[in-house]
Amino acid sequence: MADKTIFQKIEAGEIPAKIEYQDAECFAIRDINPQAPLHLLVIPRKVVPHLSEASAADAALLGHLLLVARDLALKLGCGDGFRTVINNGKNAGETVPHLHVHVLGGRPLGWPPG
Ligand code: 5GP
Repeated sequence: MADKTIFQKIEAGEIPAKIEYQDAECFAIRDINPQAPLHLLVIPRKVVPHLSEASAADAALLGHLLLVARDLALKLGCGDGFRTVINNGKNAGETVPHLHVHVLGGRPLGWPPG
């Protein structure tokens, strides 16, 4: 069996993190290195390493992650605006090979991103 990802270790309670939300399909934590006042990671329990490796069978899961991201952003005070990001691959800065949706908000967010 492949080594657990950092996020699987958090899910198993082996690495501490503040769980903001969880359901049967996913969980959400505060990013350890926040880039905005609100910076969550919405993480599927199923390990899809990269968005580029997701399949049609993952369509409902991917949609669910976005709806959870939306609900959390609104619930946590980002009705004025928030951003969802999925980094894919080295050039995009992906560092954890376990698909996750960043949710950023709580300040004006520049565009284009870096
Ligand atoms: P990526 O760069 O792959 O898009 O995003 C990975 C994110 O996971 C980064 O923003 C990083 O700060 C966050 N991260 C890495 N290790 C941990 C950890 O142990 N705990 C938490 N809460 N976040 C982590």
